[in-house]
Amino acid sequence: MKSEVALYVDEALGSYGFPDGHPWGPDRQDAFWREAAGQRLDKSAEVCGSRAASAAEIGRFHDEAHVERVHQLSDRGYGLIDHGDTPAFSGVYEASAHVVGAALEGLHRIMAGEVLRTFQPIGGLHHAARERAAGFCVFNDCGVVIDTLRSQYGVQRVAYVDIDVHHGDGLYYPYESDPDFIYADIHEDGRYLYPGTGAATECGKGAGAGLKLNIPMQPASGDKEFMEAWERVEAHLREHKPEFILLQAGADSIAGDPLAHLQYTPRAHAHAAKRLCVIANELCGGRIMGFGGGGYNRKNLALGWCGVLNAFIRGSE
Ligand SMILES: [Zn+2]
Repeated sequence: MKSEVALYVDEALGSYGFPDGHPWGPDRQDAFWREAAGQRLDKSAEVCGSRAASAAEIGRFHDEAHVERVHQLSDRGYGLIDHGDTPAFSGVYEASAHVVGAALEGLHRIMAGEVLRTFQPIGGLHHAARERAAGFCVFNDCGVVIDTLRSQYGVQRVAYVDIDVHHGDGLYYPYESDPDFIYADIHEDGRYLYPGTGAATECGKGAGAGLKLNIPMQPASGDKEFMEAWERVEAHLREHKPEFILLQAGADSIAGDPLAHLQYTPRAHAHAAKRLCVIANELCGGRIMGFGGGGYNRKNLALGWCGVLNAFIRGSE
C-alpha cells in the first residue's frame, strides 16, 4: 500500500542543533529516529530527504535583513543570533534553510496529492519573528509554509495548532489581525515561562478577533487538564473551518522536561494528532503537516513524536 505519510528526516535536518551542551543539541533527531525505527514506524511512512530553501523562499515570511544577518553569522561561526539563547554556529544558515526546505517539500507533496500528511521532527520553529530569531528558532518554517500556501497555492484559510509548552508567539503576532488564520495554542502560562505571552485574553484583533484561541495552563497540569483544553481546540477548529492544518507538537509539555513544568504523558500528543487527522479528513481533504517543535528530554521527544507519527500513519482509523 502506498504510504499516506511523508517523514522528513536526514543528516542536514539533524544538523540543526546548537553546540556546547545547549538544550537543543544536534542529537534530537537521532533520539527520535532510534525510537521510530524500534517501533518500525519508518516502514509505514515514506522517509524523505530535505533540500535547502532559497533566500527568496525564506523571504516569503522573513525580512531580507534577518536572512542576510543569519548568513553572515553562519559564515563567521560564532556570536548570538538573537538577544540571548540562540547561538550562531558554522553552518547554522544552511541547517536552518534545510528546515524550511523540508517543510516546503512536504507542502508541495501534499498539494500535488502525493501524500496526505507529513511529519518533520526537526521543525516547528515557532518563536522566530519576521525580523529576528528567538528562543532557539532561526527561521520560522511554519510561517513560510503559511505564506506559501497563500501566495503559491491559493489556500487562505489555514489553522495552526500548537501544543508545545511555550506560546507560539512567532505565529500568533504576525497573524493576530488576519481574518483567515485560525490559531489554537495550549501552553504553560506565560507568567511562569518564556516567552511570557499567550494570555487567554489574546484572541485576535480587528478582522482576526475571535479566530485565535490561547489556553494558558497552570504549572503541573497533566493529561486530564490537557484533554479538557483540547475539547475547546476541536470546537474552535470546527467553528472556523480551515482548509489546511499545521500541528506544532512540542514534546517539552511532557512531564520531566528540563526547561518547563507541565506534566502531560505522550498520550496527550498522540491524542491531539489522532483527533486532528479526523478533523483534517472532515474539513481539509485530509491535509495536515506535523512538526516536532521543542522538547529537551530525549526520551520524551522520542515517545511524544512517535505517538504523533503513529497517529498520522493510522490516519483516522
Ligand atoms: Zn517549547
